Amino acid sequence: MIIKHSGGRTMAEEILRHDVEDETTLTYEEAVAEAKRCLQCKHKPCVDGCVAHMNIPEMIKKFLEGEGDEARAVAISGNAFPQICGRVCYQEIQCELKCVRNKVNQPVKIGKIERFIGDTYKNPIPKISEPYLGKVAVIGSGPAGLAVVRDLIQENVKVDVFEKKNYFGGVLRYGIPQFRLPNEIVLKQIEELENAGATFNRDQNLSKTFKLADLFERGYDAVFIGVGASADNYLDIQGKTSPKVVSWKKFMEIVNLYDEPMKHTLFSEVTTITCIGGGNVAMDVVRSARRLGMQAHLVYRRTVDRMPARIEEVQEAHEEGVIFHPLRDPFLVNQREDGKIELNCVVTELFVDEQNPRGLIKNTQENETLLCDMVVMAIGSSVRSLHEEGLETDEYHRILVDETQKTSLDSVYAGGDAVTGSLTVIHALKTGKNAARSILDQLRQTK
Ligand SMILES: Cc1cc2nc3c(=O)[nH]c(=O)nc-3n(C[C@H](O)[C@H](O)[C@H](O)COP(=O)(O)OP(=O)(O)OC[C@H]3O[C@@H](n4cnc5c(N)ncnc54)[C@H](O)[C@@H]3O)c2cc1C
Ligand code: SF4
Repeated sequence: MIIKHSGGRTMAEEILRHDVEDETTLTYEEAVAEAKRCLQCKHKPCVDGCVAHMNIPEMIKKFLEGEGDEARAVAISGNAFPQICGRVCYQEIQCELKCVRNKVNQPVKIGKIERFIGDTYKNPIPKISEPYLGKVAVIGSGPAGLAVVRDLIQENVKVDVFEKKNYFGGVLRYGIPQFRLPNEIVLKQIEELENAGATFNRDQNLSKTFKLADLFERGYDAVFIGVGASADNYLDIQGKTSPKVVSWKKFMEIVNLYDEPMKHTLFSEVTTITCIGGGNVAMDVVRSARRLGMQAHLVYRRTVDRMPARIEEVQEAHEEGVIFHPLRDPFLVNQREDGKIELNCVVTELFVDEQNPRGLIKNTQENETLLCDMVVMAIGSSVRSLHEEGLETDEYHRILVDETQKTSLDSVYAGGDAVTGSLTVIHALKTGKNAARSILDQLRQTK
């Protein structure tokens, strides 16, 4: 647990926890004041900035007119889950970047308004009843799958979810830390879908415990595949198979799903971790580690200003005491007799020119060894092959779809990271909503 000076927030100091949200929802008065800053621009540049083209000015207008439920419905029609998008979307490079208020001072805080509306108002989903419009199987319960469930159940389709894990929500549950997206927010959405008649089935692994063909034999009219990109990428270095070298997924799963992560056998003797990576996932790892009382080091091959992570995350990580080791390229993990891990890195240099805007990395003759109890690899993840199901995929195993999310197989649709490779929650929601539209078209045509 760490204590942090809270800057502009109300308390002078705050204790940061891994399982309590950092930011609070705006009060009604704050949300109204922020919403009133919206100029209701005719050409709506913020809408173009939103990946899902949610009608932001319309949502704000309804809210200011006192029609909170309608405002929430506008958000849902764009992105399915405003409580989630309001918290995790990268608004500063999406809708808020395009807000015309940017030219004068600060953009309208669209994410915060959306979060307030999502948290405060209600749009109950009617319970499905026979005769159903059709019966659809959704494989994977991440944001892509959940968006499909929401849009189909709303239209009286019987939907059954098949999830390989023994819990639901995908990266929303096991990846994004609770200080940014509490579990209860995700669980509430799932509960709402269950109450409306969707079934969620755990320990159901496509290609291992069942096949696509089985689903059609069981009478499903269509199948949606939203299995994400969950294969760990490991840096190919000597010693990487040590039990003390773990993937970000293993690390974050323990942080997010265990009530007392430090009592987990893997964490019980860990006081210092070194994370390899410079993206948002790496930031989630080190910031979570700090909240659990660990020392957290971050190793990256380039300079800090060239990290792909959001600048806010990098700054927060700095403030929270993460120790950055830029220009270091790991090449060897060595487990000592006393159980400690040595991570040997070569010191690099970066050469930036017009041909190499990200910088060309060159190794120097110098090495540095970092001592820790655990190394966490956070260098991305890939899509697992589903080729044996007969789906057409590209060289990275991403499922090939047309503009309606239809795959090479009849009545089989796909979306989210399994199609795009690792992207964002809003991209996954958008493809899920697109697939739901196509599935509804199919069901209506065949009825
Ligand atoms: C640590 C981390 C933090 C992130 N933070 C953000 C953020 O702040 N904002 C943002 O916009 N994006 C963020 N992202 C990216 C975002 O979470 C993903 O792009 C998004 O979750 C993809 O959604 P999805 O539904 O396609 O896949 P996933 O969320 O990966 O869900 C796929 C689901 O399918 C299940 N599954 C896999 N294989 C099978 C199988 N064979 N059979 C049955 N089920 C299967 C999985 O268990 C999982 O539940 C983050 C990613 C990570 C890793
Ligand atoms: S760009 Fe900004 S001010 Fe204009 S409509 Fe969108 S949120 Fe409102």
